[in-house]
Amino acid sequence: MARLWNFSAGPSALPESVLQQAAQEMLDWNGSGMSVMEMSHRGPEFTRICDEAEDDLRELLGIGDEFAVLFMQGGATAENAIVPMNLIGLRDGHKADFVLSGIWSRKSATEARKYGDVSVVASSESELNQDGRTWQPWAWFPAVDQWQVRPDASFLHICSNETIGGVEFMDWPDARRMRALGAGDVELVVDASSHFLSRSMPLDRVGMLYAGAQKNAGPAGVTIVVVRRDLLGHALPICPSAFDYANVAKERSRFNTPPAYSIYIAGLVFKWLLKQGGLDAIEKVNQEKSRRLYQFFDRSDFYQLPVHPQFRSRMNVPFFLPDTTLDGIFLDGARERGLAQLKGHKSVGGMRASIYNAMPLEGVMALIEYLESFERTHG
Ligand code: PMP
Repeated sequence: MARLWNFSAGPSALPESVLQQAAQEMLDWNGSGMSVMEMSHRGPEFTRICDEAEDDLRELLGIGDEFAVLFMQGGATAENAIVPMNLIGLRDGHKADFVLSGIWSRKSATEARKYGDVSVVASSESELNQDGRTWQPWAWFPAVDQWQVRPDASFLHICSNETIGGVEFMDWPDARRMRALGAGDVELVVDASSHFLSRSMPLDRVGMLYAGAQKNAGPAGVTIVVVRRDLLGHALPICPSAFDYANVAKERSRFNTPPAYSIYIAGLVFKWLLKQGGLDAIEKVNQEKSRRLYQFFDRSDFYQLPVHPQFRSRMNVPFFLPDTTLDGIFLDGARERGLAQLKGHKSVGGMRASIYNAMPLEGVMALIEYLESFERTHG
């Protein structure tokens, strides 16, 4: 059996040892005589699996007891509705502010408009002229000091890693900085889907953070929500009870049947990460992988990188060939070498290498070797 170097943006590669363990435990989990898929979500076996997954995630991210950790369904797209239904009522005006930095944050804002008064406080959906260069829309991130946050907004939403654009943003403002921008007690809400668990994150600055699992955390089907407990209990009356954070928190993610198998695999991924040395250790690996890849591209006159260097994502690396007629040849050649799913998102074209936690440096080096040889042949 030959496994590919898988550069998919998600669902994406999982650690091989996790898949092997899941295969071994498929028919009989831990002597229970049952597959995890066959267990009652309220029985002692799954209770242990789910609670351990939560505990391990808390350890990885340093999540204190002031936060609830929820395993939910519907993906990050459903969260675009679930977040405002739970949090827009924190303040009377039902206002939510959004920073638009790409296709995912724009979708979040569009969905939220169904639930209240939405304002776009900054956007990169325009060109940026800086240092004698023009950066395309969605290839940069709006500077924090330009955000026009409303004083009475309930929350401010950002997407900290735009998976399609390849833009990563870590300069999350704390409460003091937010007040200097004119904000009141606004809660920062972060869609961290595509770089979740790739690095440590300043949770003390957020009211809530969410991530679809299918990049770094596990298979599709479970959405991870980290929300401060004092924000619970403000859901709009229209909020479905299964999506009310207060209900889900009270029942420790078992208000109704949760995506049990996805939670189990995510739990194995959390244990794998702890064994690697936690988020500081994996962050170093991710730094090195992305450094090598960007360094290669920076030295090449053949490939073009769209993203402003300050905001280059460590996880999703979009790049373009000099001529779109080469795209098919490039992808075929990649596939022959076992390098898979490098095609860029259909809305932007080009290529994209997603190099999540489960992609080792060796896979990135195999990609660089191919990029070099393709450039020699076609440059
Ligand atoms: N936000 C981001 C940053 C994403 O990358 C994605 C999916 N790629 C989504 C939201 C939507 O996630 P889902 O498909 O799980 O609804």
